[in-house]
Amino acid sequence: MPVLDEKLHDVYDEVLRRNPGELEFHQAVHEVLGSLGPVVAKHPEYADAQIIERLCEPERQIIFRVPWLDDAGRVQINRGMRVEFNSALGPFKGGLRFHPSVYLGIVKFLGFEQIFKNSLTGMPIGGGKGGSDFDPKGRSDAEIMRFCQSFMTELYRHIGEYTDVPAGDIGVGGREIGYLFGQYKRITNRYESGILTGKGLTWGGSQVRTEATGYGTVFFVDEMLRTRGESFDGKRVVVSGSGNVALYAIEKVHQLGGTVVACSDSSGYVVDGKGIDLDLLKEVKEVRRGRVADYAEARGGDARVAADGSIWNVPCDIALPCATQNELNGSDAAALAGNGCLAVGEGANMPATPDAVEVFAEAGVLFGPGKAANAGGVATSALEMQQNASRDSWTFEYTENRLNDIMRGIHQRCLETAEEYGSPGNYVAGANIAGFTRVADAMLALGVI
Ligand code: GLU
Repeated sequence: MPVLDEKLHDVYDEVLRRNPGELEFHQAVHEVLGSLGPVVAKHPEYADAQIIERLCEPERQIIFRVPWLDDAGRVQINRGMRVEFNSALGPFKGGLRFHPSVYLGIVKFLGFEQIFKNSLTGMPIGGGKGGSDFDPKGRSDAEIMRFCQSFMTELYRHIGEYTDVPAGDIGVGGREIGYLFGQYKRITNRYESGILTGKGLTWGGSQVRTEATGYGTVFFVDEMLRTRGESFDGKRVVVSGSGNVALYAIEKVHQLGGTVVACSDSSGYVVDGKGIDLDLLKEVKEVRRGRVADYAEARGGDARVAADGSIWNVPCDIALPCATQNELNGSDAAALAGNGCLAVGEGANMPATPDAVEVFAEAGVLFGPGKAANAGGVATSALEMQQNASRDSWTFEYTENRLNDIMRGIHQRCLETAEEYGSPGNYVAGANIAGFTRVADAMLALGVI
């Protein structure tokens, strides 16, 4: 982990003291502070206004009970939360995660990341995140619906087009957004499209939102490759995960002439040297809600599934971690670098551990951090908000071009900022500093609030 200079170290110690046990949040804060040394040196006004200290304290945190009835008629209780982290640039914006690992430390790490990611897009969106420790795995459609309805029965009073606009994340896709939107509409008796993003195309959703995070990650990596005169064409690519982000990263890699040779889920990973059959994978994961082993079985041929070992040992030119936080550690990074991997782009939030990031930097592997590389999802959410506000809907082609321009803009901003602050080619520094300064300037302008 980078060493923090003295003033930032004090800020970090205070974060540890005030937020005990929230390990992922500590990690996310440390990662950002690690880039801010040259910024505080250049801008004493940020320290005078305690901008970093204020950024580390969410504006509002809501924690609530989510009771629901399972199919056997038994009462189940989960915990729901929404952390409204920073609204200097716009309404709080960020997804909802439904996964048994969810606790306040995860929601705060995600909300904190979201502040800088959203800022980096250049769009008018603040940062927030929410979720529940609800485990959707093995639950019937009716159970998912009842859970979502109960969750929204509390959440509805906290969200709004100008206040806080949730979307999906792990465990929350189009189906869940539908049930959540339906319940909001029923409780309030208002068809307010702009209160959630990730909606279906017939009820206020945007073209390309489903594909946006995965496509955006590939667009970003494509830009990084160009700086070395390379492209996806003919490259072997490993994509971890097989959820929404991974599926559309695979699709775009294939469109750009690369071959995705492995993907995974929490049960293991599949290696498919001929290239993942995306239609089959979508069918298994999204229709059957099956596992990668079911894909390997249906695919036949050389496709094989591995239940242990690491997907990062599969030789590749480009790696796209699209599963979850801390899924790629220092030894995985060393294996990738040793196999000649050129570039890594984070489709998930914080999938590479701090030691992995260090290994990539030392080995000269291009590394696109999630704040930059996966910002296409939330950026397209902001495009959905624009369409909702103007009661308009754009074509797929137009929206995809907007997404592509946004990703290229983010890439450019990262490189220019890294250069300006003395770390040329360092996308981590560029993303953190460019994301930070835009929010910090807005916070300065808005006074002590
Ligand atoms: N959950 C996504 C992310 O991590 C998208 C958030 C959104 O669209 O609001 O950025």
